[in-house]
Amino acid sequence: MANEKLKIAFYWAASCGGCEIAVLDINEKILDVIQLADIVFWPVAMDVKYKDVENMPDKYIDICFFNGSVRNEEQEYMAKLLRQKAKTLIAFGSCAQEGCIPGLANLHNREEIFEKVYLKSHCVENPVGTVPQTRFEAKEGLLKLPEFYDTVKTLDQTVEVDYYIPGCPPPVSLITSALEAVAKNQLPPKGTVLAPPKSVCDECPRKKENKKITKIYRVHKKMPEPEKCLLEQGIICMGPATRSGCGAQCLNVDMPCTGCGGPCPNSPEQGAAMVSALASILGLEEEKDRYTEKDIEELMRQIKDPVGTFYMYSLPSSILRRKVMKK
Ligand code: SF4
Repeated sequence: MANEKLKIAFYWAASCGGCEIAVLDINEKILDVIQLADIVFWPVAMDVKYKDVENMPDKYIDICFFNGSVRNEEQEYMAKLLRQKAKTLIAFGSCAQEGCIPGLANLHNREEIFEKVYLKSHCVENPVGTVPQTRFEAKEGLLKLPEFYDTVKTLDQTVEVDYYIPGCPPPVSLITSALEAVAKNQLPPKGTVLAPPKSVCDECPRKKENKKITKIYRVHKKMPEPEKCLLEQGIICMGPATRSGCGAQCLNVDMPCTGCGGPCPNSPEQGAAMVSALASILGLEEEKDRYTEKDIEELMRQIKDPVGTFYMYSLPSSILRRKVMKK
């Protein structure tokens, strides 16, 4: 029916909640959203139950913004249910798009995580060694918990996704432009990442001088010069390998890009793209005769946490996906 309001849903799976806050960061523009749409499901802000969604007709929701990765059985169930109930499903934020910080848990399996969190953590007292069970017979009846999976998945590894809004959390400008596109019925072809097709370096005001580096500094070990490229000062900045749309906000406060915008359109393997960018600034290609294997190892040893640096947001969506566990 013409002029009928859109029906919008928001859902929060395995994430920190920052994406939910980002929705509120659009400030007074939320009033435009209310003009345009009724929010029919938003567990963090409304008293709604899963039953309410289950009772909706299929494709009842026009647009569902799904944030968070899929780490357990309940989140997988909700991803599938919301896919069934929504005409358009948007992977909203880095966790849904790529797995993000929760995805670094793919360096471990469930057993290791439970052991660390429930048995060995210094702040836990657990003398009988209880870890979560999916089923427990209490005298009041059967208690159920969703199964905790070994591997964190992205939303599109679980269900078909129509659009992606990157960021940890998504920048306000990307949220508002996505909402405007929805309002004007001008969404691009399905599968599009709703962010500019360029890199953070393209938006960064810092000057690049094509300098080579021989030393890598952790961010807290060096006071950078304010106008020069951080990478050319030896601080690892994921800008060359990261999609823009954030306005290079971190760079404006002297913090390197950590890569939350996800990969650039032409280099879908973000970690590998950054390793390649780093190799070129280290001059390894041009001066490869000068470097021995040992020199290269020494240089790489300066990077204290390679997976956490190059795959901080993208491990589950990368070709690596997870650490192979020894049986
Ligand atoms: Fe800016 Fe980082 Fe790119 Fe250098 S590498 S231009 S600091 S975004």
